[in-house]
Amino acid sequence: MNVDQILLLKGRNVVSIEADRSLGEAARLLSERRIGAVVVVDGRQPVSGILSERDIVRAIAAQGARALDEPVSRFMTGEVVTCTCLHSVNELMELMTQQKFRHVPVVEGGQLVGIISIGDVVKQHVEAVEAESQAIKEYIATA
Ligand code: AMP
Repeated sequence: MNVDQILLLKGRNVVSIEADRSLGEAARLLSERRIGAVVVVDGRQPVSGILSERDIVRAIAAQGARALDEPVSRFMTGEVVTCTCLHSVNELMELMTQQKFRHVPVVEGGQLVGIISIGDVVKQHVEAVEAESQAIKEYIATA
């Protein structure tokens, strides 16, 4: 299973925010949309950063509630690892495990076309394992 097949099932909508918006706005967005990370955009490049709930927790731990008035640019990760539609689920699992993050934006032809979370990857993996186990059971029953 590849990234483009996951995007067909989950859709290509990506929740994003501009780097000059406040950390408080980003936190409200994560809460309202029930997601763990937002892609930071600037209108020039497909992805200019990523801000996850961990970045917000770190900011508040270091600066207290006043961090919420600071711009997203101060706390986002600027060097974002992205993937393409052709990456496989296994490659993404490996990437997320090695790099210790749970979100990978999908960039195709210089455009942001989706985002894959660890939840999407695990869901896909579990479904594939279940389908394989079912196929083996059916094979044994008819052998
Ligand atoms: P996460 O596990 O996705 O909540 O993110 C953990 C940390 O990695 C945070 O500091 C994020 O800003 C950063 N991060 C998340 N996704 C990526 C990514 N695709 N590329 C680079 N850094 C990331």
